[in-house]
Amino acid sequence: MSSPRLREEADVSRSLHGEFDCSAEATCRSQNPVREYPRAGSRRADRRRTPGRLRSGEHSASSPLPSSPSPARLGGNAVDRHRLTAQRRHLRPRPAVLPSRRDGPHDQLLVVGGGPAGVAAATAAARAGFRVVLAERSRHLGGQLALAGRAAAHRELFQRWLAWAQAELLEGAVEVKVNTLITKEDCAAWRRVIVATGARPAGAPLKLPGRLAVLGAWTAIMRPTPLTGSIVILDQDGGWSAMDAAEVLATHGHAVSLLTETSAPGFLLRRSEQGAYLRRLDALAVRILPHTRLIVDGDGRPNVFLRDLVSGRSSPLADHVGAIVVAAGRTSDSRLFLELDSLPGVQRVGDAVEPRCLEDAITEGTRAVRSGHFL
Ligand SMILES: Cc1cc2nc3c(=O)[nH]c(=O)nc-3n(C[C@H](O)[C@H](O)[C@H](O)COP(=O)(O)OP(=O)(O)OC[C@H]3O[C@@H](n4cnc5c(N)ncnc54)[C@H](O)[C@@H]3O)c2cc1C
Repeated sequence: MSSPRLREEADVSRSLHGEFDCSAEATCRSQNPVREYPRAGSRRADRRRTPGRLRSGEHSASSPLPSSPSPARLGGNAVDRHRLTAQRRHLRPRPAVLPSRRDGPHDQLLVVGGGPAGVAAATAAARAGFRVVLAERSRHLGGQLALAGRAAAHRELFQRWLAWAQAELLEGAVEVKVNTLITKEDCAAWRRVIVATGARPAGAPLKLPGRLAVLGAWTAIMRPTPLTGSIVILDQDGGWSAMDAAEVLATHGHAVSLLTETSAPGFLLRRSEQGAYLRRLDALAVRILPHTRLIVDGDGRPNVFLRDLVSGRSSPLADHVGAIVVAAGRTSDSRLFLELDSLPGVQRVGDAVEPRCLEDAITEGTRAVRSGHFL
């Protein structure tokens, strides 16, 4: 595989199948063949900052942490030493990421979340001269955009974003750690943290009779194959998720009905975007049911009806329906931020503030660093 274009396509396809490991390629500073950004530790950058007091768990190259007295000095023997070390390891929570010992505390930044907002913040910070660690809990970068990229509507957008993100992170020598869930304890060692933990699906789970599988739109987009029978999708939020789920499921050969209480699904999308979705869904023979509500009646053995909100008529859900997919919107994942809120130097960006859109996430991630909050 010789040309960079072919290599890039291979990376993208590996990522779509969850096999792309950013930690190997994008993270290693020593492998970075491209230009170095001025580091915040440089004399020019340092002039602007006054050194502060090190917090517990932080250290700099010039002030290494004092080593704790060894058991031998305390009168212990080799066995004691091993037991004490094991006990200490057991008692101390082991942070997923720590600032590098080589750097001072003033030029280091932890970005939590490898979605569009986190990547924008990490690359902007690298350009501003920070040494940046970007931690992502899943196996690959992209957050919701990676999920959206599984659908036809966003595939190209995601691939272009991923190619851009990989190049920028590599050029900025950002240390990317995938498969790394960050907790409050992990953040304690860092003076500056940007929380870009994004959003998760909203809504309480529906309780339906046993024969019906009930799942969220994100799950349906991620794993469309195991479902059996025809599928009813409830578009409760009017956003992208129901439309993408319908397109993915129909492409995988399922018979899909898309149900909305309004006049058309995807009612919050731009008209041109909604129109394009509806044309593609029509070509895939997705049945659109406007002004329709799913009603669950009875407690012990509930019946499921579809009610036409214009005529008021109800009809039972057909027996061949095997699954209900619910798109109930998104809610910000601000759990980590709320735990850290009392700490200075912590900012949240993107959907972690409030679920919005890609452009807002990228703008906020970039501005978080450029606003000078950390300088
Ligand atoms: C199906 C779908 C289609 C969409 N289509 C569009 C569109 O067409 N146009 C548009 O503008 N927007 C679209 N969006 C919305 C857009 O993708 C989001 O607004 C954007 O991705 C938000 O970026 P973010 O970085 O703030 O959050 P996210 O993308 O949610 O990324 C957050 C990341 O943080 C990680 N994370 C969370 N907690 C931790 C932790 N403790 N430690 C480590 N990592 C953590 C998550 O794994 C995730 O990767 C779509 C969303 C969906 C779901």
